[in-house]
Amino acid sequence: MSGEGVRRVAILGATGSVGESTLRVMERHGERFRVHALTAHRSVDRLREMQGAFQVEHVVVTDPETFRSLDAPPAGWAGGREALLSLVRDPEVDVVVNALVGFAGLEPTLEALKAGKRVALANKESLVAGGGLIREALESGGGELVPVDSEHSAILQCMNGTERKAVSRLLLTASGGPFRGRSADSLRGVTPADALDHPTWSMGAKISIDSATLANKALEVIEAHVLYDIPYERIEVVVHPQSVIHSMVEFVDGSVMAQMGFPTMELPILYALTFPERLDDPPLRTFDAVRSSPLTFEAVDHDAFPLFGVGVEAGRRGALAPAVFNAANEVAVAAFLEERLTFPRMADAVGEAVEQVGGGGGTFTLDEVMEADGAARRFVDAWITRNGAKSAGA
Ligand code: NAD
Ligand code: MG
Repeated sequence: MSGEGVRRVAILGATGSVGESTLRVMERHGERFRVHALTAHRSVDRLREMQGAFQVEHVVVTDPETFRSLDAPPAGWAGGREALLSLVRDPEVDVVVNALVGFAGLEPTLEALKAGKRVALANKESLVAGGGLIREALESGGGELVPVDSEHSAILQCMNGTERKAVSRLLLTASGGPFRGRSADSLRGVTPADALDHPTWSMGAKISIDSATLANKALEVIEAHVLYDIPYERIEVVVHPQSVIHSMVEFVDGSVMAQMGFPTMELPILYALTFPERLDDPPLRTFDAVRSSPLTFEAVDHDAFPLFGVGVEAGRRGALAPAVFNAANEVAVAAFLEERLTFPRMADAVGEAVEQVGGGGGTFTLDEVMEADGAARRFVDAWITRNGAKSAGA
């Protein structure tokens, strides 16, 4: 990344939860960053407002139909996937913030890394599905990958440049989501509205459901494995309902570092933009040890949240299993949100999809990953048609 001066930032998925938080962070640091480009799938009105407020030159509407339906696209606007990919390669862009949701984020990450950009990555699904490809693109393109996900930002901060071989364990914290403490039986009838009501974070719909099933934490275990090259046996998850400790790293001498703070995505976003530097950015809520006590910890309840185990197992199996897990989970979440699938049956559908694929090592081409993604989507669609809206275990 270019050293001094104002860094030009492209925000992919600017109208989402992470995208909006990124703009709030950048607004406070106009001396360091300029919003060079914005993208959204369909939210044209919000894009217009943002373009005006930040005087942005380039805007991409990724959904081609939405773009075609615009009467007269304003100057600097483009539409469709190719426009998105050429944007991340734009020589004028220094940093790409990937705040897209789902597998659609994979190619932009790969293209940005191949073009030598810093990628501030929120889009964990792409890292799970295409971990090997992303590592290859990092090596060949000379780009940089810095996590936005709060747990992985915490790990980066705890590592503080320490050598990998001095790390003995990663401890990812999980809030436990809106259904923490509930029994498997009591989760049969929960609605999308119940699941979207997260206790400590306000986020987009997909990650909110993933937090309710703990699929999000499985995605994060795989994300940590890809980012930090730590074997699965040494990545653990602990439920920590206050979301004050964002994750911990244990070193070989037994010392454990934790990164703490009141839950806000603005800190990991800012850190991903400035790493390894820290900018003066006083928090809205100062950390208060007494008021945030007690900090408590619990084990994951595998019985109530089986998708967590399904996802971690897919990670351990390796090969295309993480891509299949991710795609199957995306389809299951969409079906749950549309009330075509009950909460517990998401794990059944995704578990069966993962059972269909083999494991092993080796690397895969983008086409092979896309094929696995497509096959998993078709599998879950067909599964829902066969087994659909029946209640769990019925
Ligand atoms: P969101 O749904 O609020 O926003 C998604 C953005 O992507 C929107 O701008 C939307 O227009 C765009 N988009 C949607 N589908 C697209 C497609 N097919 N092609 C191109 N653009 C598309 O999501 P979010 O909550 O901001 O999450 C974004 C990513 O960040 C996810 O991968 C999520 O797991 C991760 N993440 C989010 C949070 C959080 O606090 N929200 C925290 C950690 C990680
Ligand atoms: Mg997270």
